Amino acid sequence: MSAKYRAWFQCFAGCDETYELDEIIYKCRRCGSLLEVRHDMEALAERSAQQWKQLFAERWRAPSGPLGSGVWGKKEWVCPRVEDRNIVSLGEGTTPLLRVESFGRRIGVPDVHVKLCGNSHTGSFKDLGLTVLVSMVQQMRAEGMDVPAVACASTGDTSAALAAYCARAGIQAVVFLPHEKISPSQLVQPVANGALTLALDTDFDGCMELVQQVCSRNDIYLANSMNSLRIEGQKTVSVEICQQLGWQVPDWVVIPGGNLGNVSALGLGFEMMHRLGLIDRLPRICCAQSTEANPLYLSYLKDFESFEPQTARKTLATAIQIGNPVSVWKAIKTLKDFGGMAEQATEDELADACAQADLSGLFTDPHTGVALAALIKLAERGDITSKDRVVVISTAHGLKFPQFKIDYHWQKLSAVRSRHANAPVELPAEYDPVVSAIFERVRG
Ligand SMILES: *Cc1c(COP(=O)(O)O)cnc(C)c1O
Ligand SMILES: [Zn+2]
Repeated sequence: MSAKYRAWFQCFAGCDETYELDEIIYKCRRCGSLLEVRHDMEALAERSAQQWKQLFAERWRAPSGPLGSGVWGKKEWVCPRVEDRNIVSLGEGTTPLLRVESFGRRIGVPDVHVKLCGNSHTGSFKDLGLTVLVSMVQQMRAEGMDVPAVACASTGDTSAALAAYCARAGIQAVVFLPHEKISPSQLVQPVANGALTLALDTDFDGCMELVQQVCSRNDIYLANSMNSLRIEGQKTVSVEICQQLGWQVPDWVVIPGGNLGNVSALGLGFEMMHRLGLIDRLPRICCAQSTEANPLYLSYLKDFESFEPQTARKTLATAIQIGNPVSVWKAIKTLKDFGGMAEQATEDELADACAQADLSGLFTDPHTGVALAALIKLAERGDITSKDRVVVISTAHGLKFPQFKIDYHWQKLSAVRSRHANAPVELPAEYDPVVSAIFERVRG
């Protein structure tokens, strides 16, 4: 199978430079631009749309071997270079697409679905990208290349995913973190998975600079978001969405964005399905940002004529607290191709959207809250109407952000009115007060 399908790195700026997928390279050597993975589309088109759909259906959660994974079930589209025996999988992907009717009715858009990408091994969509990256490293090592370790500078979800996949593969992960700037729950995953966890006396940018120096001089593989292999895994989310909707295309997809790789991944998935005839149209895409880290939104207001990096301010949506996104030009291209928009949400809006969605049975993280709040605004403005089918990308599991939920319900968030606060009711252990508390709630 691998010999038939081919993929390679190509310069995103269009200077025609290409590189093999097993080269340790993150940027174009000629012009310094980001790279993207390109596929031999002619070879892929030899299979009909119907045949691809059938193959993907057969593999969906197939019990044996790695092809039951949502990413590797689509391996010809993702990374045909990796042989099945070198795939490092933790059963990623094939996550639920839930229709949330009561939330939808509340906001006047009945046909809202949430793609729960956080229902995954390490609790965020980062698993989809890191399975591809770590599998590629495993392939390179199997072919005799000496890659002593894989490293990243990230506090949260990327470190957790990198550490888990490296532990699975028996490869040393190295995680660069700023000392005393991250929460216990962000620390515990790489620590448990055996990553060398370096707590450094600097900030995130300092960690990023150092990890790049260390990797480039020592053949250590860098798992940062410039690495476009990750995007290839993430783009399977679009394919899963269509598969789960019976190969129908939603009218809108709303996604939270920080470093902005995931927006372009979403677009690439839809484009590939469109080119290979699996779908007959494209959705519109809205990228949602926090008001505290909104450089893409500000650029959108100027029709993307310019882009200015900013210093991100503190937000509850910590994974998108990024002022100078690496993949901004990829994201802008995607939004232009998809009739896209950008929207922003305040701390109060994101927290309220989370609370409303939780009351419909979800358990949302603050980043998903940003996307839900953007959806609410688009619906209020009429950009999204009651006839539209909308998919919101939930990027992480709410259980990864317990302090956010606790502080909301205990009303300890300063910029947030906790309208749906639901802290425990403290009562004496006696019959009457308990019964009256129950009926007060039930009858209102
Ligand atoms: C990484 C991450 C994002 C942002 O994705 P980008 O590709 O950087 O835009 C959003 N939400 C969560 C939970 C994340 O971990
Ligand atoms: Zn180039």
